[in-house]
Amino acid sequence: MGRFDGLPIREELKSFEPYGAPQLDVPVLLNVNENPYPPSEETVADIAGSVAEAARGMNRYPDREFLGLRADLAAYLARESGAQLEPEQLWAANGSNEVMLHILQAFGGPGRTALSFAPTYSMYPEYARDTNTAWVAGRRAEDFTLDRSKAIAAISRHRPSVVLLASPNNPTGTALPIDVTEAIVAQAAALGSVVVVDEAYAEFRRAGTPSAMSLLPAYPNLAVSRTMSKAFAMAGGRVGYLAASKQFVDALRIVRLPYHLSAITQAAARAALRHSGELLGRVERLRVERDETVDWLRSLGLRAVDSDANFVLFGTFADRHAVWQALLDDGVLIRETGPDGWLRVSIGTSEEMAAFRASLERILKTDTGRLS
Ligand code: PMP
Repeated sequence: MGRFDGLPIREELKSFEPYGAPQLDVPVLLNVNENPYPPSEETVADIAGSVAEAARGMNRYPDREFLGLRADLAAYLARESGAQLEPEQLWAANGSNEVMLHILQAFGGPGRTALSFAPTYSMYPEYARDTNTAWVAGRRAEDFTLDRSKAIAAISRHRPSVVLLASPNNPTGTALPIDVTEAIVAQAAALGSVVVVDEAYAEFRRAGTPSAMSLLPAYPNLAVSRTMSKAFAMAGGRVGYLAASKQFVDALRIVRLPYHLSAITQAAARAALRHSGELLGRVERLRVERDETVDWLRSLGLRAVDSDANFVLFGTFADRHAVWQALLDDGVLIRETGPDGWLRVSIGTSEEMAAFRASLERILKTDTGRLS
């Protein structure tokens, strides 16, 4: 008996499980790259007041074009990256996951291809699958960087309609140099493709690492996507967004469901943006903790990838699942992801990182922690 017997589920979906990391009730949660610091009571009160105001008008549908939120996001990006954007160049949805689904709905589809470079974010092939878009994954180099000429050759060979580039990349933490990004976007423009630079972790980038926002004025085929789930400490609010040309955004407006962003979501996001100083205030601390984590892992003889994000990929273990499980037995949940042998740890509070370090040190002294 199959799970879906009697139901006309699409053939290509039959073998899948719903995507997602285990949600376990353990003391130290370092598995989904959240910001470990909750909002202050003052910010909570402002969000609650704004949501209450939205509730008073909840008999009506929300503002379908959410231009207030789009203007606030444009103002935020001007402060954060110096980007000069009109509200009509912004787009938002329930997480950057939904933003990217809109992109695949508008630019992918049967007979079309989406391309990225592995290892990368494991939802990308799912957006492609769900929109009947063919999926092609080129390879990153051994050190997880992207070779410019190989990337361009892959685009010329496969002629994808959508190229997805995560920078900083998940799960490796690797940011793309701006000249590599620009060369890819220019090649895509010449072939009539769009490029999405997924900057979900951009606020954690190291000093001197540029954002692809600076390329927007020159390339109408480019979108730079961001999220409020990571640095912004609002994963539970489900707000992701992108910046692009007006034409690009207009294409997404065709495929979105009417009123996809609820009045509650819009109100909460706008209130959170008023408190961006506080919410992003912990980013510097997390960056320092991240760099210290990389140094500490290397001092133990482990490999740790340089990271511009709020997580570190490290290893390599003979049996990574056993290491993941042993950490979990100590109450520390990290992520079993990336190429074989590697594990990914999100950067938490100093106390959480101390618990992670103590547990891993213990495991490394046992047979379970054998390196490969
Ligand atoms: N892009 C990348 C690279 C991610 O790692 C994530 C979350 N893990 C997302 C996008 C989606 O985040 P959200 O939908 O919460 O905005």
